Amino acid sequence: MTKRNTLEKWQKIYVNRSLNMGNIRAIGFDMDHTLAIYNREAFEALAFRATLQKFIAAGYPAELESLQFKPEFLMRGLLVDMDRGNILKVDSHKYVKIAFHGHTRLDKETRHKLYNSESFKAYEFLSMDSFFALSEVQLFAEIVDYMSTNPGKIQKSFREVYADLRQFIDKSHADGSIKNEVLGNPEKFFIRDKHLATALIRTMDAGKHLFLLTNSNWTYTDAVMKFVLGEASSDFPDWRQYFRYVIVGSGKPGFFTGTQPFYEVVTQSNLLTASNGELQPGKVYQGGNAQLLQNLTGFRGDEILYVGDHIYGDIIRSKGSVNWRTVLVVEELEKELLKIEELRPALQQIYAKISAREICDEELQILRSKIASNARQAKIATDRGDNHRVRHLLTENEKNLKNAHEKQAFLSENDEQIKQAIAEREANIHPVWGGLMKVGLERSRFANQVESYACVYTSRASNLRFYSPFKRFTSSHDILPHEV
Ligand SMILES: [Mg+2]
Repeated sequence: MTKRNTLEKWQKIYVNRSLNMGNIRAIGFDMDHTLAIYNREAFEALAFRATLQKFIAAGYPAELESLQFKPEFLMRGLLVDMDRGNILKVDSHKYVKIAFHGHTRLDKETRHKLYNSESFKAYEFLSMDSFFALSEVQLFAEIVDYMSTNPGKIQKSFREVYADLRQFIDKSHADGSIKNEVLGNPEKFFIRDKHLATALIRTMDAGKHLFLLTNSNWTYTDAVMKFVLGEASSDFPDWRQYFRYVIVGSGKPGFFTGTQPFYEVVTQSNLLTASNGELQPGKVYQGGNAQLLQNLTGFRGDEILYVGDHIYGDIIRSKGSVNWRTVLVVEELEKELLKIEELRPALQQIYAKISAREICDEELQILRSKIASNARQAKIATDRGDNHRVRHLLTENEKNLKNAHEKQAFLSENDEQIKQAIAEREANIHPVWGGLMKVGLERSRFANQVESYACVYTSRASNLRFYSPFKRFTSSHDILPHEV
């Protein structure tokens, strides 16, 4: 095992809540974007195109054909204001820091008037938590842009366009326009993680039972998992050998709260049969619910660790209703943590400027009280007719005022430099929206959710291989601000 202190930042597992792996008996894995890493650019471009075709087929202007997929425009964690056609980045205090209408950035005043002047209700907006939302919302932004530059050509509200979009995406998934293409060329749409099998085998050898819990259907799951794990280890020639239970079409997040029964999938015919009694290892099930899974397998909720990438689908529900422990896979960290490391000197410069500001600000306050005190004493001296003292105090205050002006000028200049340095650093991380987990130097809403809901988080499921399967992950969050 690689020593942890030699791990790269993106290989590490980060702890929000202490987690003792020794107590974990079963580990469940989501498939899409957790075990199966998508070549997102290829996949999203495909989803974008397939959905766009449905728009045109449904009578939207044929010139929409020229809309372009732009992989860099959006990121997860943003909110969509479907009524106004806007996309928002929000900090952890629900303050909208960046807003776009289509591709046009809203100025500060408009943004403030629309979102920050009264209390912000995040639930009124659509949250971009899954990767599948990226191409969906980007297509929405392109159509919003088109509507702004071609008024009257689409006689619908933004919300109606979004409703159509949802329907067309579902159609593209249902009629196979996306899946057939993906399964026909898996090497184009997936990235094999050559360490995944090692990570899984290590936990299996430690006596833990693995299960697969995915919303995808059996045919898709089987094809994708064959590609991901089929040839990964000669010890396990069939991908199903890694998993004690395979549950497809699980309907998460409803799986965690619902009462749906399990059906057995007859894998040869893809038909379902009722399943009573225990879940049998090696068989494939569909549907089900978390409570029933616990009852049928004998694992308590807190003995189950679930690894997923979708904060609402996989993480919030599994923690909120059935107390499963959770690992959130935040794929973006892999690239972003490298960037953040690279930009560390820039960040240090920003902090140096912030501490210079604090020192200067303190000195300015002292000067200001001196000026006020001198002015007060000069008045008293004037009343007493002590002209010598009045002159002395006024001369001193002239110097103080000049000094204060200089400090004020330094502060303004320094603030401008801080602002620019932060903006530059943000643009280096992501050209439009900055870091996933930050808004400037503050936490983003996404970071807040990761912290509130995931016990631990990391960039890839295979990073589990770097840690003992009995590791106690301890949280530094138990330390209070005064203890640091
Ligand atoms: Mg997923």
